[in-house]
Amino acid sequence: MNSLWLEESQIKRFSKLEKDEHGEVCIIGAGIFGISMAYYLSQNGFDVILIERDKIASKVTGHTTAKITSQHGLIYHYLLNQYGIDFAKKYFNANQRAVEEIEKIIKGNNIECDFEKQNSYVYTTNEAEIEKIEEEIEALNNINPDAKLINKSQLPFSIIRGIEFENQAQFNPIKYIKGLVNKIEKNKVKIFENTTCFDIKQENNEYICYTQNNTIKSKIVVIATHYPFLNIPGMYFAKMYQSSSYVIGVDTKTELFSGMYINIQSPIYSFRTAIDNKNRILLLGGLDHKTGENITYQDSYAKLEQKAKQWYPNSEVKYYWSTRDCITLDKIPYIGEFSNVLPNIYVGTGFNKWGMTSSNVAARIITDKIMKKENEYEDVFKSTRVNPIVNKDEVKNMVVQTAKSLVVDKLKKEENSIENIKKESGGIIEKNGEKIGVYKDIEGNIYAVKPICTHLGCLLNWNAADKTWDCPCHASRFDYKGKNIYNPALKDLEKIEI
Ligand SMILES: Cc1cc2nc3c(=O)[nH]c(=O)nc-3n(C[C@H](O)[C@H](O)[C@H](O)COP(=O)(O)OP(=O)(O)OC[C@H]3O[C@@H](n4cnc5c(N)ncnc54)[C@H](O)[C@@H]3O)c2cc1C
Repeated sequence: MNSLWLEESQIKRFSKLEKDEHGEVCIIGAGIFGISMAYYLSQNGFDVILIERDKIASKVTGHTTAKITSQHGLIYHYLLNQYGIDFAKKYFNANQRAVEEIEKIIKGNNIECDFEKQNSYVYTTNEAEIEKIEEEIEALNNINPDAKLINKSQLPFSIIRGIEFENQAQFNPIKYIKGLVNKIEKNKVKIFENTTCFDIKQENNEYICYTQNNTIKSKIVVIATHYPFLNIPGMYFAKMYQSSSYVIGVDTKTELFSGMYINIQSPIYSFRTAIDNKNRILLLGGLDHKTGENITYQDSYAKLEQKAKQWYPNSEVKYYWSTRDCITLDKIPYIGEFSNVLPNIYVGTGFNKWGMTSSNVAARIITDKIMKKENEYEDVFKSTRVNPIVNKDEVKNMVVQTAKSLVVDKLKKEENSIENIKKESGGIIEKNGEKIGVYKDIEGNIYAVKPICTHLGCLLNWNAADKTWDCPCHASRFDYKGKNIYNPALKDLEKIEI
């Protein structure tokens, strides 16, 4: 299901890499982070090659909700307690500066991307959560003194407490990327789509990036693939997990609120408005869960639809989409060196669903590193930090889930049969002791695949909301025909004849 952004605007297409290339910097991945990297580096005169395995911004960035804000849920009380005031202030300043930088880029390059200044709000409707809001506002006293406590909003229901950040923003991310692509093309960045990097090797003072049929040699590499596809070194698969969320675009047939909102209790609901062919619609998102869990339409889009109807009875849903983002165990993105043993390879990942500002922070820090300039924020986001694991429960969840899916679930006998699988749904069956992932389309045609993730071999789960095979270990995703649609896996599933 396509997002409003991908339906509404088109980015120019680029051809596949067909010959070996050589440049100063090779950027792998053209989402908002890879494109922002290409922008800053090419503005500073670097000779850049940018490769994208699919289409530019067609993955997470094409399915975001695109609020541009330094208000990342309730993060400041946590940062202050965990790391102290200077650290928390730097986190805020880095992200607030990103809000301003994005506006500067848009104005400086005349990018028409429905950019609008909006206030941002976190709120609760639950008495039991008041204390959390009050702790956050207290922490913000010395971090963002302009933050305000509120007890009502323009949302179509009552809230109990909330916090306002003024002068934040929202935009259409695909129109923004389109503007940046025009600019980086003028800056002579060589762009290739449908070009996957499978491996990187070091040779003398250079790196060689291996694609389907060709190589790219460069002194510097930036991994901007969202979830890094190199497992070792770096070990990012052991330092973060992925969380999915759902969005619907709704014509409410009424006048809408101003501002961008997110609640603090589970289930998460997120609100903003957006322009759809000159009409202002509601983007209602949320219902976060760890990617790879068994999920149904009822758990996801149906719940959002029901909420939209409750709040806006005459509403009509026009768009449905979902995506996922990398969540780090200490809530802070990984930005900087990919690993201590591979000099000049950089990474930006773990944006914790706040990648509009975090990708800009990452692109500026890494550009400064490449230019050997100091950046006052780099220590906050240091990607090679040795102790990112603050939340031991998250670590336990991750390890147990991976072990279960790698070993226990693979040994479990499947009770399902091909006859029991309904039309337009999927499930795992067993034949001659072998597990088979089966999807039955509306006409009863069967699509059978080996339901084992091509990344590290975990057993996949069927996602009935999006009709995909999802990995509960590291969140690779495959369509029902077995085509890999989200990394870290890079290979399709094996098709099985039954
Ligand atoms: C539902 C949802 C809502 C969100 N809303 C917000 C929001 O309101 N505000 C906010 O700040 N953040 C938000 N986020 C987070 C934000 O969207 C992401 O953090 C950000 O888009 C990630 O950008 P990226 O460039 O890292 O990843 P992507 O956009 O996924 O880009 C990575 C690119 O790398 C390519 N690639 C992968 N592997 C390879 C390879 N081996 N070779 C070549 N190319 C490769 C992929 O095809 C992809 O195009 C949201 C996230 C979700 C899940």
